[in-house]
Amino acid sequence: MHDWNLEDFVVPEIEGKDRFHDFALPAPLMQAIAKLGYEYCTPIQSRALPYALSDYDVTGQAQTGTGKTAAFLIAVLTRFWENPLAEPLPPGSPRALILAPTRELALQIEGDAKGLSRYMDERTVCVVGGMDLQKQKEKLAKKPVDILIGTPGRLIDFLNRNDVSLKHVEALVIDEADRMLDMGFIPDVRRIVYQTPHKRRRQTLFFSATFNEDVMRLAESWTIDPEHIVVEPEHVATDTVEQKFWMIGNREKDEALLRLFENTKTERAIVFTNRRDQTHRLVKFLQRKHVECEALAGDIPQRKRLATLNRFKEGQLKYLIATDVAGRGIHVDGITHVINYELPEDPEDYVHRIGRTGRAGANGTSISFVAEDDAFNLPAIEQYIGMKVDCTVPDEL
Ligand code: AMP
Repeated sequence: MHDWNLEDFVVPEIEGKDRFHDFALPAPLMQAIAKLGYEYCTPIQSRALPYALSDYDVTGQAQTGTGKTAAFLIAVLTRFWENPLAEPLPPGSPRALILAPTRELALQIEGDAKGLSRYMDERTVCVVGGMDLQKQKEKLAKKPVDILIGTPGRLIDFLNRNDVSLKHVEALVIDEADRMLDMGFIPDVRRIVYQTPHKRRRQTLFFSATFNEDVMRLAESWTIDPEHIVVEPEHVATDTVEQKFWMIGNREKDEALLRLFENTKTERAIVFTNRRDQTHRLVKFLQRKHVECEALAGDIPQRKRLATLNRFKEGQLKYLIATDVAGRGIHVDGITHVINYELPEDPEDYVHRIGRTGRAGANGTSISFVAEDDAFNLPAIEQYIGMKVDCTVPDEL
């Protein structure tokens, strides 16, 4: 590791693409980027980094799968590198605070932060609900923390007990603001934001998959003259995902799914249903047919969900059957297929679902089962993704 040289990280220049080399990033950060195998910036990185690295606030309309996490983490880590502290801050007093709506997302961000900072001294701690509070408290108390990642409720707990102080926060990241709104977290988030220094004295990076009026109001109150960046949802969806729509009867869906697993190279797949009961029914059906799969739904205990997700990530489990809420924050590379057992009512969910595959430039396939009921949801999806879809009778079956 000590012998690493920037010259070892060769990425040819390509017209229309930015390399991380073009941003004068700290050497240990470049080394981590090389180790992670990133070569070119994703669109959100290309557009956000010039501003975020120059201390401007950024509001970004981007979904998971676009590389937004690396965009804000690179900005934060570069800030630390360029402004080393003369003296360490007391424990529980982070320099950067990252707020995320769900444990899954917070843990993913923690993983990315650790990956990107692996050759730096920066320390990351993640505090999330549903997991051992005492252990998180010990982590906070043990040593100073540079990056604190948390879900709002648990962070409020720590603030109330004076285990965390936000007085020294230089950079505040708010991720998936629209979901925080949907989940009713905004009052908590507001209390947290007000404990950080005034927005003139901190940098704020604000991300949301959608920007409706409510989200915009939050962005306005927490940022100063931000650079607003939009990464079109179609970008995520259509560029790297081959979208198939299968005309299929309601009662043929179970069999179709079985045969799909048997006949197609579905190395790692997520099947989305619209409701939990359907998820559980489908898991039972598939398990009876000796298909190894697990459910990922909101009523499953957190611990079990994380264990399932880990097995899926590590390739010990090929199939996940998920609801939208549980499946939204999944960032797992190498998902070859997303199957919509049912079409979602909300076209945004459709884009979120299929965005689980085809991530970061890899190719993926989505297969949507379109039965009589699903057909009602199709026009809205077509409008949202900006193209007419072709429903076919599948040859594969
Ligand atoms: P995110 O949208 O932050 O969830 O990132 C999606 C995935 O893309 C993650 O698995 C990242 O590790 C990966 N990723 C982020 N930036 C890049 C990049 N520039 N090149 C390749 N992969 C990337």
